[in-house]
Amino acid sequence: MPPKAANAAVNHLRNKSRASISTACVVSTSSSTVESGLRIVGAHTDSPGFRIRPNGATVSDGLARLGVEIYGGPILATFTDRDLSLAGRISFLDDGKHLTHQLVRFNQPLLRLPNLAIHMNRGVNEDGLKLHKQNELPLLFAQLTAGQLPKPYFLELLAQASGIDATRILSWDLAVYDTQKGALWGANQEFYADSQIDNLASCHAALQALLNDAVLNSAESTLVCAFFDHEEIGSESHIGAGGSFLADVLQRINAAASTEREDSARALAHSFLISADMAHAYQPNFPAAYDADHRVFVNQGPVIKSNANRRYSSESVSIAHFIRWCEEAGVPHQRYTHRSDLPCGSTIGPIASAKLGIRSVDVGCPMWAMHSIRESAGVQDHDYMIRVLERFFSD
Ligand SMILES: [Zn+2]
Repeated sequence: MPPKAANAAVNHLRNKSRASISTACVVSTSSSTVESGLRIVGAHTDSPGFRIRPNGATVSDGLARLGVEIYGGPILATFTDRDLSLAGRISFLDDGKHLTHQLVRFNQPLLRLPNLAIHMNRGVNEDGLKLHKQNELPLLFAQLTAGQLPKPYFLELLAQASGIDATRILSWDLAVYDTQKGALWGANQEFYADSQIDNLASCHAALQALLNDAVLNSAESTLVCAFFDHEEIGSESHIGAGGSFLADVLQRINAAASTEREDSARALAHSFLISADMAHAYQPNFPAAYDADHRVFVNQGPVIKSNANRRYSSESVSIAHFIRWCEEAGVPHQRYTHRSDLPCGSTIGPIASAKLGIRSVDVGCPMWAMHSIRESAGVQDHDYMIRVLERFFSD
């Protein structure tokens, strides 16, 4: 049987809104913040994919399509032949002419990007599936009759899904999501698969750790889970890790504990940030993609990520702290560096750490197929991550 926490994670991923347009802080405050500082776990809520263009609905030969922009760096080919739909946020005028915002989700499959048959693309298995980003990504969504116009037709669909009169809708942010539910897989159900594992799995692990009663009762520090939007596009927005959101929240927490400016600086000096984001697990079909000495494996524990050019925030002191928390929690750990001849990704870690002046380490559970619409990871790792974050929060 998989650990209970992993089941909870799968259920969480099944039930998530999929809209991925949120930034949030969850905080448990302590009266001794000045002396013991803040224990922060940072992660991101957004995932690469497609966003609907404002005037995206078009029709040709009776087939209505929605134009999309690419958000972040998805593996485009994985979006073909999936049961896609839409989720996001609508802004509208309510009855009293007040500006109002509401989340919306189409629950049924609404969209599809059908592949070209192999008979018309004979080289696909040799050359890979290459999709033209402007011309070949619009998503099919309806078959219209001669008198139907695509834009009002789509607006009416939006009105039906949201319950908001079409004439009141002013604007929207809509993301494409895969309606397929998460699943455990493997001979012993030791793996799980879903969309958006990067990085909702880390968000879930952090929240599970913070909401543990034993952690809340024993913690001497103020505990913070900080979840950011826009990591996949560089974090530079008012709600991204490059914005002032987290610094503002921490400043308010510190101000509530003490009005002395010096006390706030002392609290930050005693603080620590764990940047939790997924890592690249070894896939034995592609051995050349990895540094041979830094391969990390699913179900063998959290990965500590290092990069000499600080694409990750880890350094020897913060790494040593994390190893100690792993050992105290009875959790194994692994070490990862990226190949030198491949560009390394990054996380919110270096950005948030630099803005706050707080020591940080970049860690994450190993996973396969990062940025595919169907990612997968190890069940045991999720439990490991929760346990080491619980230890961190209790330190
Ligand atoms: Zn990520």
